Amino acid sequence: TAHKQKLAYLAYNPGFEQDIASRYALLSELRSALSLEQLYLELQPKVRLSDGKLIGFEALARWKHPNGQQIPPYQFISLAETSGLIGRLDQLILQQTCSALHSLKAAGIEVPIAFNVSSPDLIEPRFFNRMLSLIQEANISPNQLELEITETQAVKDYSRVSPHLRKLISLGMGVSIDDFGIGYSSLSHITDLAATTLKIDKSFIDRLGHSRADEQVVEMILRLGECFGFTIIAEGIETEPQRLTLQNRGCLQGQGYLFARPMSLPKAIEWARAQAS
Ligand code: C2E
Ligand code: CA
Ligand code: CA
Ligand code: CA
Repeated sequence: TAHKQKLAYLAYNPGFEQDIASRYALLSELRSALSLEQLYLELQPKVRLSDGKLIGFEALARWKHPNGQQIPPYQFISLAETSGLIGRLDQLILQQTCSALHSLKAAGIEVPIAFNVSSPDLIEPRFFNRMLSLIQEANISPNQLELEITETQAVKDYSRVSPHLRKLISLGMGVSIDDFGIGYSSLSHITDLAATTLKIDKSFIDRLGHSRADEQVVEMILRLGECFGFTIIAEGIETEPQRLTLQNRGCLQGQGYLFARPMSLPKAIEWARAQAS
């Protein structure tokens, strides 16, 4: 019977049931973490590659479990995406992003902050209106924000989403295609991509200096930027040779541990001030 087969399977794969049980437990904890607002953001600087000067921040979600453990984003983001909680998570982070913008401004730092959105958000019919009223209520103007979408997700249902993205761009908001280059359909869509910025995926940056093919992909993305008028930024820059290669190829902007790791708002303010002085 099916029951016997299941038992046999579990006996053979002892980790399996525990996996599901712990994922389920994590889900209910994520749900309460959201209502208790236990999730918070860290900010990672985006810089000008020529001199490392701050040009913006990216907001990254963090979750500190009540037991003191830090749950990594790759775990709770995918859980939120598959369980329908991602909309609330992204909304919470956007609220915190707006409030961070006020704190930065009070500290004399005026650069935009990018926030991440997943594809279930984008295809949710009320997403854009809800986002715009949230921003308005927080007294933030759209040009202080940038929206980051993962490329592969952006392309799905793209014709439905792109008019909304165009509207955001016309309001002054940046729209960035995250992890650019690792999807498949990007080239056929490139001319009608409703975006201001392409973010070169870390995997290409990792192999700079080791793989001629990856260097050529980076060069090609930079050329696409020139031809179609996108700003290009490279993510995950960890070494000076990577920075130099990118700069020599004409890439103007970057982000990565070489410059700064994601940090708390007070640390980010300190970092920006130290740099300005
Ligand atoms: P992402 O949007 O591609 O964000 C960049 C990730 O790379 C971040 O990981 C960041 O901490 C990490 N990183 C930045 N520079 C370096 C570097 O030089 N070296 C290395 N090894 N890593 C670097 P994180 O914070 O773990 O986030 C992982 C992913 O989770 C993000 O990837 C994004 O897709 C997703 N995510 C994070 N916050 C949110 C959110 O609020 N909403 C949504 N929907 N997704 C989020
Ligand atoms: Ca991102
Ligand atoms: Ca990315
Ligand atoms: Ca990436």
